[in-house]
Amino acid sequence: MRSAVPCTGSAGRSMTRYATGIFYHPSFSRRSYLTAGARLADFPMALDGILRSDRVHLYEPGPVSRELLLKVHTPGLLEKVKGDPLCATAWHSAGGVVMAGEKVAEGEIANAFAFIGAGGHHSGRDFFGGYCCFNDVALCIVNLREKFGYRRFAILDTDAHHGDGTRDLFLSDPDILHVCFCGLDYESPDGTKVDVAHPAIRGTGNGRTINDVHFDRVRKEFPHRVRNFRPDLVFWYFGFDTHRGDYGDIGLTGPFYWDIACLVRDLAAEVCDGKLEVVLGGGSETRLATYLIPPVIERLAGLS
Ligand SMILES: [Zn+2]
Ligand SMILES: [Zn+2]
Repeated sequence: MRSAVPCTGSAGRSMTRYATGIFYHPSFSRRSYLTAGARLADFPMALDGILRSDRVHLYEPGPVSRELLLKVHTPGLLEKVKGDPLCATAWHSAGGVVMAGEKVAEGEIANAFAFIGAGGHHSGRDFFGGYCCFNDVALCIVNLREKFGYRRFAILDTDAHHGDGTRDLFLSDPDILHVCFCGLDYESPDGTKVDVAHPAIRGTGNGRTINDVHFDRVRKEFPHRVRNFRPDLVFWYFGFDTHRGDYGDIGLTGPFYWDIACLVRDLAAEVCDGKLEVVLGGGSETRLATYLIPPVIERLAGLS
């Protein structure tokens, strides 16, 4: 199926060594919250074709440090995560998201795709759940602020569910633009915290598909805010639980996600020199992960 919105922008700065870094640890395919359904069982093999390109590079992350974790979470949360067998991959998941941000900031890669075994956006300072353990994006942000002097970040969250952990951590931080497509309808007085309701699955009218309606909503709500906000880096929190048949089904199919990949890539090229990190979120089905993720990475790398 062809994407309705071809990527038009540049696929990355010419001085970077690779267009796209892929961050993946073998444990993500074996054991984790989200591998109750073994969703990454086909990885990394499903990336074989992509990895033949010299535009992409595969990185294997180590665990996130306790020192960094304690800058985002309470000691009590760390203990509870340690005691939860479903969070076994949490350290390497957050480690990959943090490392991806560093590689972008160092200029080794223009943008990044971070796989995870355990999710992040339902993890707040002192709570976690919903397949999430440590807040990977928040850890990456704190690290980039401290090590590289980055300050402002824009987060697009298209996972089916409200990113309550991320919102909790950055509620009073005006340097974080958090636009979350979750079914709520909200905008903070300063305009940096936004929730957008899902479109109705039925009754889109005029022969338009749910993909078209939802994509138009993202295009209407996110880019103009990012252009005004001028972030140092853009995150896309990419859950595919919104796909038809998955556990957060709002009726979407492949072209929606692939079009979003183009949108965020081109937007980052326009506002922050291409600095973009895509972080995997919810979604449980192996066949969907295998079908949806490689084309997203191809678009980030300018391979399609
Ligand atoms: Zn979700
Ligand atoms: Zn939300």
